[in-house]
Amino acid sequence: MSNDKPKVAFYWCASCGGCEEAVVDLAEDILKVTSAVDIVFWPVALDFKRKDVEAMEDGSIAVSFINGAVRLSEQEEMVKLLRKKSGLVVAFGSCSHLGGIPGLANFWNKQTIFDYAYLKSPSTNNPDKIVPLEKSEVDGKELELPEFYDTVYSLDQVIDVDYYLPGCAPPKDLIVNAVNAILEGKLPPKGAVLSPNKSLCDECDRNESKPEKFTMTEIKRPWEVELDPEKCFLAQGVICMGPATRGGCGQRCITANMPCRGCFGPSDQVFDQGAKFLSAMASIIETNDEKQIDKLIETIVDPAGTFYRFSLPTSILRRKKMEATK
Ligand code: SF4
Ligand code: SF4
Repeated sequence: MSNDKPKVAFYWCASCGGCEEAVVDLAEDILKVTSAVDIVFWPVALDFKRKDVEAMEDGSIAVSFINGAVRLSEQEEMVKLLRKKSGLVVAFGSCSHLGGIPGLANFWNKQTIFDYAYLKSPSTNNPDKIVPLEKSEVDGKELELPEFYDTVYSLDQVIDVDYYLPGCAPPKDLIVNAVNAILEGKLPPKGAVLSPNKSLCDECDRNESKPEKFTMTEIKRPWEVELDPEKCFLAQGVICMGPATRGGCGQRCITANMPCRGCFGPSDQVFDQGAKFLSAMASIIETNDEKQIDKLIETIVDPAGTFYRFSLPTSILRRKKMEATK
């Protein structure tokens, strides 16, 4: 590989692995990407080690794409190392951008999570009540595990981030556009989310059937309704986060006849995705009767998890206040 190609790194923090799949799913486009750059670090696919990154000159990696939220001390150390070694850092995917699904753990803390996962869940068989320890002794040798934090963080709560590629996972065309923009030096101002700054509703094929005002007595979940594939989900009494969510995903869920869950996060004008959705709902529901509105809200299963499914750590809520375990 030629040394004058831009160096690129990929790293994976707290995530499901879908963002790594999204890179592999670039199919023939990944060949174009790999022929234009030198991939110098990609733990999921290539055998480079942390010491290889440590040995690189500061700023020598042109761009690091980092997916996943930050939940462990090891992840914090690695993203800080990559920040030092990289010209640009791109938060890749919802978890890195907003905290994502792992960020929903901010409704609990380390103690409550460990208690449930290792001791109390119905599928746990742990008669000796063994829970992971940061330091333990095995065959006379000390074994060290990363620290598990009480709180899940978005990437920009830990390091400076240059750009954000939204989505769970980011779609292929946005990834290819971002890589091309980086290679050609045609990037927008620092801090930009690399997707159109408009709401999903603005580009949704069902927008014409979105009600201006309507009467809703009950919120239903998608599986409880025989969904009309052409009609706005809100008009069918099903929550769709489109009004509070940035466009650019290609309406992936909508075309599969599933409502938007909000993985692209809010557009630039929106301060808080969940609050924006609630205000959008309030403006279209045809009643001022607070009791009726309260009754309607009561029919939503897990409201906080619904409105902040991908954005809890970066929302106005951030996390449930609990006593730290450290
Ligand atoms: S609420 Fe959902 S279905 Fe309705 S227009 Fe917006 S994105 Fe489309
Ligand atoms: S429709 Fe919503 S949840 Fe689905 S990919 Fe698009 S932004 Fe994400």
